[in-house]
Amino acid sequence: MNEYPDIQLHIDGQWRAGASGRSLPVRNPASGEVMAQMACADLDDIAQAADSAERGFAVWSRTSAFERYKTMRKAAQLLRERADHVARLMTMEQGKPLAEARMEVMAGADTIDWFAEEGRRAYGRVIPARQQDVYQLVVKEPVGPVAAFTPWNFPINQIVRKLAAALAAGCSIVVKAPEETPASPAALITAFIDAGVPGGVVNLIYGDPAQISSYLIAHPVIRKISFTGSTVVGKQLASMAGLHMKRMTMELGGHAPVIVFNDADVALAAKTMVASKFRNAGQVCVSPTRFLVQEGVFREFVTQFVEHARKLKVGNGLDTASNMGPLANPRRVSAMQSLTDDACAHNAQLVLGGKPLVGAGNYWEPTVLTEVPLDARAMIDEPFGPMALINPFASFDDAVREANRLQAGLAAYAWTRSARTAQQIGAAVQAGMVSINHLGLGMPETPFGGVKDSGYGSEGGTEALEAYLNPKFISQAGLL
Ligand code: NAD
Repeated sequence: MNEYPDIQLHIDGQWRAGASGRSLPVRNPASGEVMAQMACADLDDIAQAADSAERGFAVWSRTSAFERYKTMRKAAQLLRERADHVARLMTMEQGKPLAEARMEVMAGADTIDWFAEEGRRAYGRVIPARQQDVYQLVVKEPVGPVAAFTPWNFPINQIVRKLAAALAAGCSIVVKAPEETPASPAALITAFIDAGVPGGVVNLIYGDPAQISSYLIAHPVIRKISFTGSTVVGKQLASMAGLHMKRMTMELGGHAPVIVFNDADVALAAKTMVASKFRNAGQVCVSPTRFLVQEGVFREFVTQFVEHARKLKVGNGLDTASNMGPLANPRRVSAMQSLTDDACAHNAQLVLGGKPLVGAGNYWEPTVLTEVPLDARAMIDEPFGPMALINPFASFDDAVREANRLQAGLAAYAWTRSARTAQQIGAAVQAGMVSINHLGLGMPETPFGGVKDSGYGSEGGTEALEAYLNPKFISQAGLL
């Protein structure tokens, strides 16, 4: 029996093939083998998904916040019960080690719970009026049907932050999930359907991303766009959404600086940052990438970092001994090769890795480059892979200048034993999230988003729910 199933679209409460019968193969990144076929939506299907979301919105927006909460909590529980199975599907399609996949599924369930609870607290307010017998009310209304576009690096996590926030607010949704990793998203949607979400509220499609986004963003029924992916595509979608006056959340690429000061706990920094750098083979928008290490501890940090990175076992994610799986697609392997070649041509020092593993699958060795010139492409473009770039710096101001040099502004990390330096660096770095002396990003209850070219809006915290709500002001005079 094939453990990895063929994947269908979910429109108007039905699982089905696309109208044209078109499908795409799904490949296992650990072997390159085709595991299954995934149905593709054509224009008819996309139009039906939008109509379905309109009908779904009419039902769900009138369902009480308490009923929505109960259904969502049930979906979270079903997802937890199915975590082992869903994690296997995710590892088979995306490559990450099973333990990481399972953690993602469980964290997805926690995200659903948190938004379910938060939806019950979407309070409005009463503003004192200037006249007697007048009530000035602010009520929060769901923004309307949502179109969400999500990438392949966290097949569940990227969807669940949009889906749970939208549903908690009373919105319906059309999810265009990643074509390369379709089974775990389908399992997530199934948990909601099995929990009793009415037909039309949650729709799932795959197909040609540009066709789907240009159709849905322009569609009058869709009132809110949420996209996670590259800055280049994000800018295209944001300009389309602007043209049609649609609300947007854009969670785009990063190129996170890690600033290690002379007074840091170097051993802790190196150990923690290796685990973070090579998680999901570095295919993480908040992945630590540009390591800026003060001259006094530069050599010590490089030595310890490389020591930990060398111990990572790269292999099939289904093998529980693997700490790092293959990259999710062959494009990333080509990107790693080209960024490494370019850095070496710019006289960077290759101190670890720098080549693919021999044999089938999209494997790339954990790679460490030091003394990388700022005009090497890896110091400009987001590597989005298992690559650490480590450069020395002299003063606090030098580190800040380098941290803020790029247009990316998503995550930043710093290590120091000085409370004064910690406070100053937290304020000086241009980023949406700064984590100092530990890894502290990405919980459902905390804001998650960037500044500058990394996008706008938040996918965590109370801000994330607000993104799916419109405030309505009602001024009501008594009939005295
Ligand atoms: P890409 O830019 O083609 O695609 C990124 C994602 O956007 C994919 O999920 C894709 O399906 C989607 N997409 C592409 N064009 C679209 C369109 N017109 N409308 C709607 N969705 C569209 O590149 P890629 O090779 O898949 O990934 C490469 C780069 O993307 C990485 O280097 C990284 O910078 C970025 N990326 C970022 C994240 C993130 O978490 N922010 C996730 C995945 C990829």
